[in-house]
Amino acid sequence: MIIEFLGTGTSQGVPVVGCSCSVCRSHDPRDARLRTSVLVRVGEVSLLIDAGPDLRQQALRADIQRLDAVLLTHEHMDHIAGIDELRAFNFKQRRPMTIYANQATLEAVRRVYHYAFSEARYPGVPELELIRIGKEPFRVSGIEVRPIEVMHLTMPVLGFRIGGFAYITDAKTMDDDQFDRLTGVEVLVLNALRQKSHISHLNLEEALAWIARIRPKRAFLTHISHLMGSTAELERSLPPNVTFAFDGLVLELPDPARSQ
Ligand SMILES: [Zn+2]
Ligand SMILES: [Zn+2]
Ligand SMILES: [Zn+2]
Repeated sequence: MIIEFLGTGTSQGVPVVGCSCSVCRSHDPRDARLRTSVLVRVGEVSLLIDAGPDLRQQALRADIQRLDAVLLTHEHMDHIAGIDELRAFNFKQRRPMTIYANQATLEAVRRVYHYAFSEARYPGVPELELIRIGKEPFRVSGIEVRPIEVMHLTMPVLGFRIGGFAYITDAKTMDDDQFDRLTGVEVLVLNALRQKSHISHLNLEEALAWIARIRPKRAFLTHISHLMGSTAELERSLPPNVTFAFDGLVLELPDPARSQ
């Protein structure tokens, strides 16, 4: 299983438009962060987690040749604003793109992309097949995906566990039973917005506390704001098994079990 970070930035991305802080002016490529998204490849199957406003650029940079499905964490625009770009895969693969998400997220997709679902659809609009998921495990192309529900202030958000890999973004709180679903995870990706606390996102200290509780072999922080500070300055302060993710980072893990 190959994991590729397509974006690791918070909703505005880094650099922030119009900001001249030292992080936004940094020459370290790790400080340039597109909106949060990750590509999961298991054999020939490619799954995209979230489709944010930078999707076109991300797909070109990662040279994504085909996509089997998209998993959405929640309805915020930094996670769904790139859905129109999925047309590229509609055209190439000659089939609708399957999107898995919870009920509220699917309703938002129908609202925002109403023109893709209207009776009189204009030729060339995105073709989307929406599949509702809850907290129960489901299969995509034979790969088992186990949802993990976290709370983003009052909004339920889905994280996803695939074999030894777990991906959680935009979390602020999580119930004990969902923590249990992360037992034995090898690689955990978790959101950490900045140093100061925030109403709807984990800050660095809270994310590190979750990691200490979950005890993955390795953890990677994502959905990072320019207010976090520069990667080079901060990485030394992290525990040895924790890293700031960066755009283009690729991880390799053992393949999860497959079936049809
Ligand atoms: Zn977000
Ligand atoms: Zn800045
Ligand atoms: Zn959000």
